[in-house]
Amino acid sequence: MTTYKEFHARSVRDPEAFWAEEAKRIHWHKPFDKVLDYAKPPFRSWFPGGLTNLCYNAVDRHLEARASQKALVWISTEVNEEKSWTYAQLADEVNRFAAILQSLGVGKGDRVLIYMPMVPEAVFAMLATVRIGAVHSVVFGGFAAASLAARIDDATPKVMITSDSGSRGGKGIPLKPLVDESIRLAKTPPAHVVIVNRGLDPGMTRVPGRDLDYAELSAKFSGVQVPVTWLESNEPSYILYTSGTTGKPKGVQRDTGGYCVALAASMEHIYCSKPGEAYFSTSDIGWVVGHSYIVYGPLINGSTTIMFEGLPIRPDPGIWWKIVADYKVTSMFSSPTAIRVLKKQDPAFMKKYDTSSLRYLFLAGEPLDEPTARWVDEALGVPIVDNYWQTETGWPLLSACPGVEDTPRKFGSPSFPVYGYNVKIKDEVTGHETAPDQKGVLCVIPPLPPGAMTTVWGDDERYVSTYYKSFKDEVVYSTFDWAVRDADGYYYVLGRTDDVINVAGHRLGTREIEEAVQAHAGIAEVAVVGVADALKGQVPVAFAVAKDAGKTATKELAAALEKEVMATVDKELGAIARPSRVHFVSVLPKTRSGKLLRRSIQALCEGRDPGDLTTIEDPAALEQIRAALKG
Ligand code: AMP
Repeated sequence: MTTYKEFHARSVRDPEAFWAEEAKRIHWHKPFDKVLDYAKPPFRSWFPGGLTNLCYNAVDRHLEARASQKALVWISTEVNEEKSWTYAQLADEVNRFAAILQSLGVGKGDRVLIYMPMVPEAVFAMLATVRIGAVHSVVFGGFAAASLAARIDDATPKVMITSDSGSRGGKGIPLKPLVDESIRLAKTPPAHVVIVNRGLDPGMTRVPGRDLDYAELSAKFSGVQVPVTWLESNEPSYILYTSGTTGKPKGVQRDTGGYCVALAASMEHIYCSKPGEAYFSTSDIGWVVGHSYIVYGPLINGSTTIMFEGLPIRPDPGIWWKIVADYKVTSMFSSPTAIRVLKKQDPAFMKKYDTSSLRYLFLAGEPLDEPTARWVDEALGVPIVDNYWQTETGWPLLSACPGVEDTPRKFGSPSFPVYGYNVKIKDEVTGHETAPDQKGVLCVIPPLPPGAMTTVWGDDERYVSTYYKSFKDEVVYSTFDWAVRDADGYYYVLGRTDDVINVAGHRLGTREIEEAVQAHAGIAEVAVVGVADALKGQVPVAFAVAKDAGKTATKELAAALEKEVMATVDKELGAIARPSRVHFVSVLPKTRSGKLLRRSIQALCEGRDPGDLTTIEDPAALEQIRAALKG
């Protein structure tokens, strides 16, 4: 048996031989000419010349052996429904949806924007898009109209797919009015909107000619077969936007063949999931985990994937464990925040169900604190595997790989670099590799492995300047995370090096939130920082300067303005970015060159020392922050 160490070493020493072997896991319509083309670093092409298709690998390929096996199970505790589709039924839905898209003029390379709640039609739509060689851009259903408009203008979709309404905690959250507003704001609106009408918003209005009803169209294409469009391995499959240090989100672009191979391999090496078994990821299709491990990974593997719409505590905190028991889930994927929510509930709910089918619980998206890891490990009695990755990488970068070797895990550590990733921790200043236990920036020596992003949509220059220019001595991919490695080779991730914060496992740019706060006409200036939170990991907190000091002269006035600012952020970005507090001050702490001292503000919020303040323009500004926090 190979040890994990040897397995990883081989993947880095001879990536071409390693990935040539892994590439056999998927169907190639035409074999690739070579494994890797690295003629234009840091850009690289995996499996150039090869023709394949994500939808074919996720659906059609299984029809011979698994036509009557469940492919997708949808459980909604929002509308109290539970439905499943076999691979044959999934193929039928996907073909119909592909025909709908074609009838609306969508072809190879065209973009389709999907803005949907957690409904099965979202999965059909994603698979249908890649089936015909088009490119999807799924936007999380919690984003507001202005965010949606920015994504429309960047990706210029031909068609948008949405629903009348999402639902949270039993309360409808209409989506269609946000779509209407985003189309009004966008410079390049799509010609058509396909609406999956759930009947949750009886007041929904339609724009004649533009808005079309999914059920009507789907009925029209009943039984139709749409041939797969074979794509060259490096042609794009999707765009997924993520936040960075600027106000403008980046469209992470993914290829086709490399992504398919990387996911297929990870299902065995990392997730230990066998074809035919049930795989349950509690994420949302709007995030990268949803793309890779609700939709593509499990389906490419021939698993039964479970899609859940609802809250983990509704109807009671046993719901996820009931699902594990009902479907004999073997691999489950969730987030530390979700587990912290469950930790506050009566543990009897977990014990009520037979969860013995579970081999592992994988947690990712944010730092997994030791008490949470210990609690769930003991309560559930299965090993917890901490995965570290990013929207950019598409699949884990640091993780134990129990499918290769069941290495011992240390709480608080996502273990080792995953095969395919040549990882280095570099000193921020010197660029030299750090010694064990010395903090540095977590980097990857290019070429990035299959599955990781290929570029920023429409902006190759931004891809290179954002990710590869952190160090003078070497072109390396920076994750913008601090990390240390201990003497045993275990890695620990210590948080971001930039102004990006992580709220309940979701990345948000502080600059983006500041821009949203400033959309309120009464705000002159603002600083937003991420502050440690026992439940969500971090929450955004804002310190704002009102244009008219009179508007914050009394506690009541300040409270009213704070509410208005929060509502503005909801409208501009979405409630997930809403600051937990908006404090008012008359001056913000800045350097003499005008740079916001976000780190010092954050330190004060967390009760820490504000650090080196030799460059501060006005020391009284920090006193105001202190006073605001006390008040
Ligand atoms: P996103 O692209 O939204 O998935 O966010 C990726 C970021 O989340 C990373 O750069 C890290 O800052 C953080 N992150 C993800 N997984 C982990 C983990 N297992 N431990 C610590 N931080 C994590």
